[in-house]
Amino acid sequence: MSYDPIKTKLENNKIIILDGGMGAELEKNGAEMDKHMWCGKCSVDHPELVRKVHEDYINAGADVITTNTYSTTPISMRQYGYEDLIEKFNQKSVQVAREAIENTNNETALAGSVSTFGNFYKLGIKAMIPGFNEQIKILSDAGVDLIILEAMSSQADIVEAMLNCSTKLNIPVWLSVSCVMDDQKNIMLGYNDTIDSDTHVYENFETSINNFKKLHSGPILVAHSDINITGKAIETARQNYDGVIGAYPNKGYYEKPHWRFIDDMTPDDYLNEVKTWIKDGAQIIGGCCGIGVNEIKAISILKN
Ligand SMILES: [Zn+2]
Repeated sequence: MSYDPIKTKLENNKIIILDGGMGAELEKNGAEMDKHMWCGKCSVDHPELVRKVHEDYINAGADVITTNTYSTTPISMRQYGYEDLIEKFNQKSVQVAREAIENTNNETALAGSVSTFGNFYKLGIKAMIPGFNEQIKILSDAGVDLIILEAMSSQADIVEAMLNCSTKLNIPVWLSVSCVMDDQKNIMLGYNDTIDSDTHVYENFETSINNFKKLHSGPILVAHSDINITGKAIETARQNYDGVIGAYPNKGYYEKPHWRFIDDMTPDDYLNEVKTWIKDGAQIIGGCCGIGVNEIKAISILKN
């Protein structure tokens, strides 16, 4: 598989279905979450479960699946004493995802997740850059079809640093950022993922998009954000960006190290939300924390 079929579909204004969250689906399948490495260790400890979740997403209709590497960033692995296993963990996650694709649908593309997990702002951007470069290189060498920069919850300058790192290799890049609504109902770059924590507001999303597009021409996705603000964030992105727009929001909230679900939204409710986002110009849709196989299956009927 290569990125070409996805590229062609995007150029022809087709809808691309991305997978949903990995951690919560793994937990549903009986995997244990590590208090430091979250679901990242599962690829090595329980590859059969990670493979199963990937296969479930492919069978549900995902055109693109994402490696279980969100929490295996070099910087967090070093922090928790796994410095000798950085390559092994990341390569294993690519291998397991490839096996899932071979077992199910060879048309599925594989996105390598590069994130800011563990990259606490206090470390400073200079300290984070080698880790971004390292993870991008490992995943790219291991054969992913694209890199998805999961810069969710990150400040704009970190996002820009990641974008700069990603241009060093010749591989397609998608960018994911999170948004929140401020007191004046403006869509802002920021996040709020625990039920009672403060909302972190960084800057106007409009400003962010206009800066990101100087460094990036690939898809921009509103991710790890509240479903209720995702529509407005897509509108903002559409008004400020001519490239491909997408979304994969959250359903629920985080209570370390588990995701808690909110059960009042059915997969069909999610489908109805997604329909409005597509009408507003979103072309890539999936799910983040709390959005699982059932939701991905529901929205897959929108593929054209
Ligand atoms: Zn999330």
